[in-house]
Amino acid sequence: MQNPEREWFGTRKVSAREKTDLVRGVFDSVADKYDLMNDLMSGGRHRLWKDRFVRQIRPRPGMKCLDVAGGTGDIAFRLKRKGAQVTVSDINEEMLRVGRDRAIDRGWLALEWVPANAEDLPFDDESFDLYTIAFGLRNVTHIDKALAEAARVLKPGGKFFCLEFSRVEEPFIAKIYDAWSFNVIPRIGAAVAKDRESYQYLVESIRKFPPQKQLVRRMAAAGLSQCRYTNLDFGVVAIHQGVKV
Ligand code: SAM
Repeated sequence: MQNPEREWFGTRKVSAREKTDLVRGVFDSVADKYDLMNDLMSGGRHRLWKDRFVRQIRPRPGMKCLDVAGGTGDIAFRLKRKGAQVTVSDINEEMLRVGRDRAIDRGWLALEWVPANAEDLPFDDESFDLYTIAFGLRNVTHIDKALAEAARVLKPGGKFFCLEFSRVEEPFIAKIYDAWSFNVIPRIGAAVAKDRESYQYLVESIRKFPPQKQLVRRMAAAGLSQCRYTNLDFGVVAIHQGVKV
């Protein structure tokens, strides 16, 4: 094969196929410690970001929602509490297993858990009122394919929401954030999850993800309209949203 397509895996270029497998390996490896690690790495802030994300969505009872790269269910549970009807999908069955166990502990049997790649969703066209993806899009090998799939499965008027690590636009805060993420997070990963490499990947993948305005342009190119973003914590994370016309 001539010049096979190369993708970033952290700071390394690998083939597209390899990236999908490597990312799957990262989440296989971290699944059991994922929730604890999120708390340690973000100082508990990921809970506030997720609460804010769902407040911005304003889900209504009965709304048909698809949470892509839904992992252990943090966004799905928040949507469910508001009465939404939620399907969680993720490429990694280990993450879904942990999520399903958490849902059973809460007595929530009505959530649907579907293994699927965000780039090739096993759902009909125009079948959801809401598409969410939280801390998932940066792990997807072909972001534009995932965005096109989001637009495809949304009903006309349906809404797209993405919560993702983004770019800190304030230089002083960016320095502190870099020091924390490059030095502290992989060490926490090594100490708690006994897996420095996976957490090194997570930090590096954040730096390779498109900055806010570029992601807005790519959402529009995928067929979404009214695309915009809101920074949280100076852009450490951003909420991107758009509407399927
Ligand atoms: N959304 C959850 C949350 O906010 O806690 C989980 C986020 S976790 C950082 C990223 C998730 O993306 C993992 O569960 C991983 O398996 C999933 N993922 C990675 N690549 C994917 C892909 N191509 N399609 C679907 N899910 C993917």
